[in-house]
Amino acid sequence: MGREITNIVEILNFYQALGFRELPINFFQSLIPSIQYSSTNIISNQSGIEILKEKNRFTDKDSLTDVMDELNKQIKNCIKCTLSNSRTHPVCGEGDLNSDIMFVGEAPGVEEDLQGKPFVGEAGKLLTSLIEKIGFTRKDVYITNTVKCHPPKNREPFESEISTCFDYLKKEIEIVKPKVIMTLGKVATFALMGAKGKIRDIHISKIRGQMFYYNNIPVIPTFHPAYLLRNRKDKWLTWEDAQQALRRLK
Ligand code: URA
Repeated sequence: MGREITNIVEILNFYQALGFRELPINFFQSLIPSIQYSSTNIISNQSGIEILKEKNRFTDKDSLTDVMDELNKQIKNCIKCTLSNSRTHPVCGEGDLNSDIMFVGEAPGVEEDLQGKPFVGEAGKLLTSLIEKIGFTRKDVYITNTVKCHPPKNREPFESEISTCFDYLKKEIEIVKPKVIMTLGKVATFALMGAKGKIRDIHISKIRGQMFYYNNIPVIPTFHPAYLLRNRKDKWLTWEDAQQALRRLK
């Protein structure tokens, strides 16, 4: 709750600084988006924030879990693209739904497809070690992928698959509301940059170190852990990127 209470105090100070002596009639309604929310139903094509406005409820952490469970149910039943034909398990995000930091990878690999969990293979071990080196455990952060199903032969997801799946990532971000997002590799970076153009035009080595924003949330692009397994000398650059992310949490 700390984050929300701080928000409310800031908003009240803001009104006072503007010279308001009374609160506007719709004041409490306008606060709702800054408070964790619940919805028993996530309706397709509707953002979490829209649901929140519609349901107009103050809720608790259990309800946040309900919203994510509902979203995960949709992911598990998803047949919106052909990746659903070849997957073993769809892979939902996992971690702390109140985390300030979110890691977004590309798509589940072979091991993730078998276990139905994100980043549990070799690349996942490297990501876990980065997370621990910056002072967290996997349970403290939120880890997800741009595309929730394993592409055959480990190929890169197509732009069309990324757009089809994007609604899920968008909703996860709305639910978790991280203070900073680290995109791991070019697919996640491409997606959060608005999926314009071609993935092949994104070069992490050129854009890393340059933060951008997704819906006012700072996004820090860095190398994908699978790349780092092959190019170990670049690990220190990802370390620098992680330090930049940590500075956004202060
Ligand atoms: N690579 C990814 O991008 N995501 C995973 O979950 C595993 C490997």
